[in-house]
Amino acid sequence: MIPALREVDEVQALYLAFLRALTEAGFRGDTSPSYASRTVLATDNSIYQVLPQAVIYPRDTGDLQLLTELADREEFHTVVLSPRGGGTGTNGQSLTDGLVVDLSRHMNRILEIDAEQRWVKVQAGVVKDQLNAALQPHGLFFAPELSTSDRATIGGMINTDASGQGSCVYGKTRDHVLELATVLLGGELWRSQPIDGETLQRASARGDRVGEAHRVCAAIARDKADLIARKFPKLNRCLTGYDLAHLGTGRDGEHFDLNSVLCGSEGSLGFVAEAKLRVLPIPKCVALVNLKYDHFRDALRDAESLMGAGPTSIETVDSKVLQLAMEDIVWTSVSEYFAGDKGRVKGINLVEYTAASEEELDLALKQFTSGVDALLGQAGKSIGYSIARGHAEVDKIWAMRKRAVGLLGNVHGEKRPIPFVEDTCVPPEHLADFIGEFRAVLDEMGLDYGMFGHVDAGVLHVRPAIDMKDPAQAALIRPITDKVVALVQKYGGLLWGEHGKGVRAEYAPEFFGELYPELQRIKAAFDPRNQLNPGKVATPGIASGLLKIDAVPTRGERDRQIPAQVWDGYSEGVHCNGNGACFNWDPDSAMCPSYKATRERIHSPKGRASLMREWLRLLSNRGVDAAEASRKFREQSFFVGLPGRIKHSLARARGEYDFNHEVNAAMQGCLGCKSCTGQCPIKVDVPEFRAKFLELYYSRYLRPLRDYFVGALEFTMPQLARLPQLYNWPMKLAPVRRLLERGLGLVDSPMLARKRLTKSMSELGVPLASHACLDSLGPAQRERAVIIVQDAFTSYFDAEMVADLLHLLKRLDFFPLVAPFHANGKPLHVHGFLRQFERVALANSAMLKKLAESGIPLVGVDPSMTIVYRSEYRKVMGDQAPKVQLLQEWLAGHSQHLAQQRHRVRQTRFQLLPHCSEQTNARDSLGDWHSVFAALGLELTTERLGCCGMAGTYGHETAHKETSRAIFQQSWAPRLNGETDQLLASGFSCRCQAHRFAGIKLRHPLQGLLAQLHK
Ligand SMILES: Cc1cc2nc3c(=O)[nH]c(=O)nc-3n(C[C@H](O)[C@H](O)[C@H](O)COP(=O)(O)OP(=O)(O)OC[C@H]3O[C@@H](n4cnc5c(N)ncnc54)[C@H](O)[C@@H]3O)c2cc1C
Ligand code: SF4
Ligand code: SF4
Repeated sequence: MIPALREVDEVQALYLAFLRALTEAGFRGDTSPSYASRTVLATDNSIYQVLPQAVIYPRDTGDLQLLTELADREEFHTVVLSPRGGGTGTNGQSLTDGLVVDLSRHMNRILEIDAEQRWVKVQAGVVKDQLNAALQPHGLFFAPELSTSDRATIGGMINTDASGQGSCVYGKTRDHVLELATVLLGGELWRSQPIDGETLQRASARGDRVGEAHRVCAAIARDKADLIARKFPKLNRCLTGYDLAHLGTGRDGEHFDLNSVLCGSEGSLGFVAEAKLRVLPIPKCVALVNLKYDHFRDALRDAESLMGAGPTSIETVDSKVLQLAMEDIVWTSVSEYFAGDKGRVKGINLVEYTAASEEELDLALKQFTSGVDALLGQAGKSIGYSIARGHAEVDKIWAMRKRAVGLLGNVHGEKRPIPFVEDTCVPPEHLADFIGEFRAVLDEMGLDYGMFGHVDAGVLHVRPAIDMKDPAQAALIRPITDKVVALVQKYGGLLWGEHGKGVRAEYAPEFFGELYPELQRIKAAFDPRNQLNPGKVATPGIASGLLKIDAVPTRGERDRQIPAQVWDGYSEGVHCNGNGACFNWDPDSAMCPSYKATRERIHSPKGRASLMREWLRLLSNRGVDAAEASRKFREQSFFVGLPGRIKHSLARARGEYDFNHEVNAAMQGCLGCKSCTGQCPIKVDVPEFRAKFLELYYSRYLRPLRDYFVGALEFTMPQLARLPQLYNWPMKLAPVRRLLERGLGLVDSPMLARKRLTKSMSELGVPLASHACLDSLGPAQRERAVIIVQDAFTSYFDAEMVADLLHLLKRLDFFPLVAPFHANGKPLHVHGFLRQFERVALANSAMLKKLAESGIPLVGVDPSMTIVYRSEYRKVMGDQAPKVQLLQEWLAGHSQHLAQQRHRVRQTRFQLLPHCSEQTNARDSLGDWHSVFAALGLELTTERLGCCGMAGTYGHETAHKETSRAIFQQSWAPRLNGETDQLLASGFSCRCQAHRFAGIKLRHPLQGLLAQLHK
């Protein structure tokens, strides 16, 4: 049994008083001092981990004003606040031991789009891709690009002055900011935009913080112009953070623009509440030339001459990143452009061209490729290329490139690529030489690394692989950074070329020299007591107040408290590096429905992985080995420890604190949809560690009755199905439904099929797959034979669909047999009954493997139940797990046979609404559906779709019904608004959900096919 975890770091009294005062002042947003929220927001994508006192989610600008007014009161002068957006910083930018102010949860509305004048007004928490999706119908886009565009916020982009691919043409975020509405310490809301000398004078004359900020900045711009010109490098990625080079003086017709200081200020000067941004027309035509090299150095050197051909951008990727992409789900969408490249290609340059017309694009491409062709294969030049054309195709390759950083983290072993010197920038003409020396530094230390980046701007991302749990390796951060700083200085570049300074601001005094005190004056004007994101960018006159790269607590320091065997036992969760890909904004992406519906970070894969790590650490510190505790628990009888479970559950009912409950709440919110398993670049597998956690949580506390009911479903269904009325009739009665809803916690149970599958099988002449039957098959039957593996949900609740499937297979001249029903165990796994799951999995496998000995393929019906055989079963028995294919995977292998049946099919078009587990864990199988339909001459399009919100029994749990509905509303409901006849859904859960919330009965893809078969 695991112990209670009560001794967690407590919130300081001052901060509790601050939160109380905030509520009393009428704060409308949310505040959370829970240890879970604090733990989840203690990390970003950096190596650091800093526990905040609480998290605050302002609802609007008024809330920000209340917050900053309060912080300006004398009794709260030591309270510190750090703004936070997507939390994707790579250098601890938004981390604090004070209050995290997260603007992404509520302040995420697009306020106004003026397509004619080409500007947009947004709240700071709007995600960049969310903005571009809203602008797209107007033919416009917000140009500054970054790899985290699906989760980074505009507030975060402004405050790191973000930029990325295309920066040579589009510049940085700052170049597109027209006006900022910033809440300053003390509560003033200031709208800043470029102003003339007269307006500057008026602003400077104010007696408040606004006046002070203008006076100080204007004086520096005026008095230090020469020094500024000397210190700020003339790079495309010019220096971020109090950008004095673009401030202007307000004199001689020159504007004064406070925004140049605010952009890149990393939340150290104020809270950006809203922004007015310039937007641009989407280039009409686009193409990407993918140049391949047999040496990465050649790719870097060649980039410089390629720039002369005037492309929009050039990005580079090395062989390591390419190799990792090949092993990822993303490869399916881009493989055609890199076919046959395995092994020889050591680097690629992605050269983008945009144009207003296809003719213009043709011309540019022709000129470019004829230059490339002339040198193809020569020393230092590319060895071949492919061309992607049109937004859809080009975006696929950019998506692969955007995943590169995340993918780097997915290397095996404990040494993982980490960011700390990952965004150096040098003049592009020096990049190859600089990288040569950079590599020498890393090679000398025996470190592994991957590289990719923006060669056109001289920015290369390098993440050395280091195990931060090992103190000796962690100690390398300082010497490597120092050497890289010396190198960038040698080449006239910057350490902070793209991702901002964060804790690396410690190098700012050295870099700025005599200009650094001026930065301190600016900080002091806005924030005299160092309350806003202290230690970043500059301090108000305290020389030693900047954070130090090796003096901020790291994640590694905490992680090393977890013994190696426990760490390895939970490897599916502990490697989360916080890159935030699971905070994906897009409702039509399957990635984390529970986060999308709640906007609570604890309900995301990162949230759950962070809590799991902290839970393992706290247990380890109590001398408990979680892996060993599981093993022991599995050996015990149910009754051992029952009195203890009753006692502890009573304590829980009395409200006694235990961190286990906070972790449990986060785990309960997970749908078990497995989108994280398939889509997280690090392959964090929440359902796996969630099951392990639940097993141990319920070794201490009593399980809800519902869990036993759901876990037993697969065993009771076959019995109940003998007399379905006995189940269906009471289920329709309101008092029974109420009892189930309130007593058991289950709602909207589906009804058992009235006609049993066995009856349909005998009508269709489909035999049960017994050994005798399999042995008796002749060679012709064997060739077309397939064993359908049943699952409880389709066989007993949707037997008509399974019968249709058998009918179709027979009519297509296949020879279907049905495997005897055996529980699959998924519901047991989902609820953490791992001992029982293992037993069921072993027994089911034994049965299936005996059938498989016949050489006849095993094919499952429901995608999520079938995927269990290749994931959860493999974890129990490795390669010994039975091979059960998805329907479409098996059918696609018979395309030739299907094509011969084409004349029997009435032509039509269908749209597939795929199951999210299928999309994310068996991505190629969506292509298989297309092959199957195409072979029969039918057109099938696949919808981009999020989760339906049902996910097995999740949507049937009373506590989750409303979240389940919210998830359904986001992506599925809009698809079901119009004509639905041609829509097909492969998942049983999805079909149930569409029926429950939209009243629409969707067909399975094979039911769609059956309806088109006319002979
Ligand atoms: C995998 C990966 C790839 C990346 N690629 C790129 C890239 O291509 N280009 C690039 O520029 N960056 C990149 N980054 C870094 C990061 O995504 C950017 O810095 C991004 O702009 C941060 O946005 P955010 O919303 O996550 O901000 P956060 O990380 O939450 O905050 C960043 C900083 O802004 C401040 N801040 C946030 N919101 C506000 C506000 N409303 N008011 C005041 N201050 C605020 C915070 O205090 C913090 O100092 C990458 C990061 C990762 C993990
Ligand atoms: S769970 Fe995966 S996607 Fe989410 S932050 Fe962690 S590593 Fe990134
Ligand atoms: S299984 Fe689904 S709901 Fe659970 S964390 Fe992963 S993506 Fe989110």
